[in-house]
Order: sequence, then structure tokens, then C-alpha cells
Amino acid sequence: EANATIRVRAARLGTRFILVLAEDITEAKRLDEVRRDFIANISHELKTPIGAVGLLAEALQSAADDPDQVRRFATKMSAEAARLAKITAEIIELSRLQAADALARPELIDVDHILAAAIDQSRVLAESSGIELVGARAKGLAVYGDEPLLIVAVHNLITNAIAYSSPGGRVGVGARGVDGAVEIAVTDQGIGIADEDKERVFERFFRVDEARSRRTGGTGLGLAIVKHTVQNHGGEVKVWSQLGRGSTFTIRLPQAPQEPTVSGGRSKRK
Ligand code: ADP
Repeated sequence: EANATIRVRAARLGTRFILVLAEDITEAKRLDEVRRDFIANISHELKTPIGAVGLLAEALQSAADDPDQVRRFATKMSAEAARLAKITAEIIELSRLQAADALARPELIDVDHILAAAIDQSRVLAESSGIELVGARAKGLAVYGDEPLLIVAVHNLITNAIAYSSPGGRVGVGARGVDGAVEIAVTDQGIGIADEDKERVFERFFRVDEARSRRTGGTGLGLAIVKHTVQNHGGEVKVWSQLGRGSTFTIRLPQAPQEPTVSGGRSKRK
């Protein structure tokens, strides 16, 4: 690190000795900055929906005699409220993930089950978006981890793949074992991501196109949640993409030995 921050403390021990303590607080300082940035981000992100709810409440008051308008404003208001609920839930989830270095109680998980659950949760969205969602079976692959968290991570990748595609597109989900790792891939034929944005998409609240993200119900936190979940599992997430052609996001996790002697977690299936 180019700029290390060292905190030095000294204490006199009797008349002959001075105790000097030098402590590297670079990491502590960095974390503090991260935390401060996060809070600034959050206030910014919450301002818009909160402002909208306020304006809609005012509009509702003045539209009291017109049932159609009342209905319209009320519908918009509950959409903004739902958005607020989603953002706050994801912020809480992300801070929890960021605070933890590792998983509390990893269990043995069948990868096929993660994919099946994440795909199931995405079917309705795929259908209403005119996207063909294709999942391949991933038999005999296992990882150690937190199953609900991993399902959320894969689900986030699938909903993005759908959100950033056009009707008629295809989204593929699959997994394979490579060199002691499990690679889960979600592929789309959507709008793609420019080279200069590929790293940034994993930052919280970063969106290439804020309006598009907002339209599809995005919060800008989905990929940050994926990244931290995967890191807490000792893995990594990567993106391959070409503008206008599509993207593939891969989650790479350490592979667990198959057929363990200890019986696995809730998810173990025959
Ligand atoms: P959002 O809620 O905005 O989708 P994410 O953190 O999930 O937030 O993604 C961040 C940004 O990365 C998105 O706003 C979008 O610009 C870009 N992105 C994510 N997934 C894809 C994808 N499959 N294809 C194209 N762009 C994507």
C-alpha cells in the first residue's frame, strides 16, 4: 500500500524505559472510509423514493374528488414504497455480508438445488419479459456454504440477465466442475457491458444506465451482494461481456468432495 497510516503511542516505564507502540491502522482507516461512503450513498439513494412518496401524498390530497386520479397516485405510491422496502432490505443484507469475513455455519449444498431454486424464482419474470430461461442440470456437484445466500446470488444474476435483455432473448444457467472448483454461469444475449464498466458493475449503487435500472426495479445493489456472498464463500465472480452481444457472469466456488460421509444440509437431494 502506498500510503500506510501508522498510529504511534508511547508510554514511560519507570525512569529508564519508554514503551513505543506502532500500529498499522491503514485497514481500519480504509474500512472507516468505506463505511462513510456507504452511508452517503444510502442517503442519496433513499432521497428519491422518499421524495416521491411525499409528492404523491400531496397529489393524493388535492385529487381527493377524482377517484381515477386517486387510484393512479395510490398505485404509484405503493410502487415507491415497495421500492423503498427493497432498497432497505438489500442495504441490510449487504452490510451484513460486508461485516462478515466468512460464513458462520457452512453446510454441504447440492449445486443443482441452488440452480433449480434460483431458476424457479425467476420464471415469472422471464415469462413476463418474453425471455426463454434455460437451465442445465448440474449433477454431482457440491459446495460448502449458505444455501439461501447462494440462491439469492444466482437469482440476482438471472434477474439481471433478464432485465438487460430484449424480448425474444435467451438466458442460460448452468454449472460445471473445473480443477477443484464449481463454476456457475449465467449467460444472456442482452445489451452487454462496456470494458470500462466491467469492474465497476460490482460496486454498490453503480449502474451503467440509471434510468434503465430503475425501470426494471433495480437498486444497484444486486451485484455487490453477489460479490460479497461469493467472497465470503472463498470464491470469486467474474464477467465476460461484449456490448450489444451479451454477457456471462460466472461464480467460482471451491468444490466440496462429493458423497460426503457426514450427511449434508437441508438441501441434500437424492
Ligand atoms: P441493478 O439493480 O441496477 O441491476 P446490479 O448491481 O445488479 O444493479 O447491476 C449493476 C449494473 O450492472 C446494472 O445497472 C447494469 O448497468 C449492469 N448489469 C448488470 N447485469 C447486467 C447484464 N446481465 N447485462 C448488462 N448489464 C448488466
